Amino acid sequence: MVANLTSIRDDFPILNQKLPNGQPLVYLDSGASAQRPRSVINKITEVYEQYYSNVHRGVHQLGDRVTTEMEAARSRIQSFISAELPEEIIFTSGTTMSINLIAQAWGRHFLKGGDEIILNEMEHHANFVPWQAIARERGAVLKFIQLTPEGRLDLDHYQGLLTAKTKLVAVTGMSNVLGTINPIREMATRAHEAGALIFVDGAQSVPHQPVDVVGSEIDFLAFSGHKLFGPSGIGVLYGRKALLENLPPFLYGGNMISEVRLDESHWASLPARFEAGTPAITDAIALGTAIDYITELGFDTIQEQEHLLGEYALQKLREVPGLQIYGPQELEQRGTIFSFNITGAHPEDLATLLDRKGIAVRHGHHCTMPLHQHLNIAASVRASLTFYNTTDEIDALIDAIDFARKRLRLT
Ligand code: PMP
Repeated sequence: MVANLTSIRDDFPILNQKLPNGQPLVYLDSGASAQRPRSVINKITEVYEQYYSNVHRGVHQLGDRVTTEMEAARSRIQSFISAELPEEIIFTSGTTMSINLIAQAWGRHFLKGGDEIILNEMEHHANFVPWQAIARERGAVLKFIQLTPEGRLDLDHYQGLLTAKTKLVAVTGMSNVLGTINPIREMATRAHEAGALIFVDGAQSVPHQPVDVVGSEIDFLAFSGHKLFGPSGIGVLYGRKALLENLPPFLYGGNMISEVRLDESHWASLPARFEAGTPAITDAIALGTAIDYITELGFDTIQEQEHLLGEYALQKLREVPGLQIYGPQELEQRGTIFSFNITGAHPEDLATLLDRKGIAVRHGHHCTMPLHQHLNIAASVRASLTFYNTTDEIDALIDAIDFARKRLRLT
């Protein structure tokens, strides 16, 4: 543990527990959902106990307070990602909803037959299927950036795909399987030179590295509260104001209108236009608290600890006989998500045996079937680490893998 993180685990009540089978919990599944600090949990209780009511509606004092809190959370998110304006931050239910919002609102309005969208095989289904669906509907064409053998995007190939027909590049900031960190700034510049927009899936990258949407020339960014040490059911869509303003609504109903008449309606300005209905009020407010927590900790500290964990995990995992880690083998090019297989072991058996030792990992295709097809495997086991993990937990993982290998008679 880096020096200023020695007591960090005390902030996360769920981490310090014994599981029903008596094993201490070793939580290595933060890529699926991270855990939340006590300050976030306390904030949720505070809202419900002290001032919960609907937002943007009543003149009463609770309504005022809750609206102020939610708008303060929006402003915190704005500065967290260095956006220019608070109305560029749209609250959604999560990354999936944010991507669908743009695929539908932008795609229906701007995509026409023969237009091209650039994707790649490492994308999560959430940043894949919505584009596939809208492309089919509009007669647009999907193009795929080739992956290099070590699981990075081939930028020369990318350059060759960009043409006057390219309308959008959709790319993940960090692969949820390979851990690959993609060069967003460079990709954005090249997309813009070709006259295209860039949509960044920040579900995995935003919790681990600072993001500057203006400096990185990002047009749209999506991320989820539950991976960012905040609540589930809340997420963010960032969009440049000039772009969002020109989009039609995605969902229709209360809050998103300025005027409704029998024959026609007019839409509210940003951000309300894309926030139809009652939002996840408490969760939006608590997401602001999660961002305070990360900001106080600082990405320097977070990255220092993750680097330490990453080096240690790579070294230890490499020593396991028959274990293959997917994605870049050098830490400089990847985050602390390690997907692997062990020759002769079925990923589900492995994950089940690891669970017996209290190790929480994920197995399966991790919502990346095209990537697993590319890797020529059906499934993998994934250990995803963050700043609250320890090298002792990596040792526990390695011991549990050893136990599993013996059980599966691989030694
Ligand atoms: N993109 C990536 C890279 C992810 O890892 C995930 C979550 N597994 C998503 C998108 C979807 O996020 P959510 O389920 O919170 O909408």
